[in-house]
Amino acid sequence: MEDRQESLRKLPSVEVVVEKLEGAGGASGRPRRKMVMAAREVVSELRRAILDGSLAEAPGEEEILERVGRRLAESRLEGIRRVINATGVIIHTNLGRSLLAEEARRAVDEVVSSYASLEMDLLTGKRTSRTAHVCSLLADLTGCEAALVVNNNAAAVMLVLNTLCSGREVIVSRGELVEIGGSFRLPEIIERSGAKLVEVGTTNRTRLEDYERALGGGTGAVLKVHQSNFMMSGFVESVPCAELADLARDRGVLLIDDLGSGALHDFSDLGIEREPLPRDSLRSGAHLVTFSGDKLMGGPQAGVVVGERDLVAECGRNPMARALRVDKMTLAALQATLDLYLEPDLLLERLPTLRMIATPVERIRERAERVAEALAREAGGEAAITVAEAESRIRGGALPGSSLPSYAVVISPGVIAADDFVFELRRCEVPVVGRVSEDRVLLDMRTVEPSEDGLLIDSVKHVFARTATRERS
Ligand SMILES: *Cc1c(COP(=O)(O)O)cnc(C)c1O
Repeated sequence: MEDRQESLRKLPSVEVVVEKLEGAGGASGRPRRKMVMAAREVVSELRRAILDGSLAEAPGEEEILERVGRRLAESRLEGIRRVINATGVIIHTNLGRSLLAEEARRAVDEVVSSYASLEMDLLTGKRTSRTAHVCSLLADLTGCEAALVVNNNAAAVMLVLNTLCSGREVIVSRGELVEIGGSFRLPEIIERSGAKLVEVGTTNRTRLEDYERALGGGTGAVLKVHQSNFMMSGFVESVPCAELADLARDRGVLLIDDLGSGALHDFSDLGIEREPLPRDSLRSGAHLVTFSGDKLMGGPQAGVVVGERDLVAECGRNPMARALRVDKMTLAALQATLDLYLEPDLLLERLPTLRMIATPVERIRERAERVAEALAREAGGEAAITVAEAESRIRGGALPGSSLPSYAVVISPGVIAADDFVFELRRCEVPVVGRVSEDRVLLDMRTVEPSEDGLLIDSVKHVFARTATRERS
């Protein structure tokens, strides 16, 4: 106990640490408050460690200052900031899903730096619905009678079920009770919407008779859900949308189709598997279809409901719709994104998500080679840089089984472990997110925008410079 008290006494106060750091010019242009926060964290960590006995003695002043300096540098990485996505996952939920098209970016910039006709019809000067225009674009693109836009697809599903199925049963195949991204779990969404989940079929096979048997007086809807992030193969069976639609209409209940990704573009022309389009689903007879704005559609985060006019209108009248509404930035981006779909010839060039999917592998190889060449000149020591074939993924709940051929810049760091190297890459001024395979760092070039090649090279060079003198641990 005595020793601990003695060690605690030796710890400098936060004020002293800050003063010394300032004296040494350690704040490097950051707010003083940040330095105080970093010092407070480090000092209280040391205090705790001494009290619980995991640290026998307070470290020297120099080491404490160094720790605070490091904490201060790391605090730059907190929160949201731009990164270079070299993971090869195009719709990467943790990295913000779709990049906006240049047109969408400009539209957002304009409506946030000026007033905007968010809820005013400029022809009449009267108040209007903020989503009226994007909804008419969506009607044109999906062939629906009416559309509704909310915060995200989880909100769209919640709103539809709460409006139309509260207090009633919703029938879902056991093969479609998905969890998406940890927090969207279909059974929980259904419960919170006030509807009652009725599971039918088995994990791998659900037949039309299963739905038929479950339908009854208390049924509000049959809900079909895109499996999104997993694949089943082997002895599997599910019921096509059209058959479910016939059954639902026959028995006077709704068919709601949660497509998840909801492509507005038919990818079969790119030689990859076809995603079901909202248009197909509505044609097959679904009453309502829901999908995300920032997955394959390539726009901002949003949730879209399309389908029959009366049903969509009823959802719009639910007070919950007001709580889930989109802001002007989202609307501006969504409108500009949908406008691009009106010119299909330019779409694959202008919409980053689709452009990344459509980029020919040869073009990626050329860029990977150019980047590798630039890096090889800097690597030195034991590091080795090569180019290797890789597989990119689309993800975002789309085509879970498909991969796209790609090329990666491969770094065998030599002096340090590959895991440490990717960590250092994330700590760069422009952080780079890559992955590790067999103690090598892979930077998949399909998800790196060509305009970012220079920044990518700079970040990797910095890591080379920082780690050149370090020993492999
Ligand atoms: C992604 C997904 C959702 C959730 O959409 P968000 O826009 O992320 O809220 C819901 N259902 C399915 C089938 C999905 O793939």
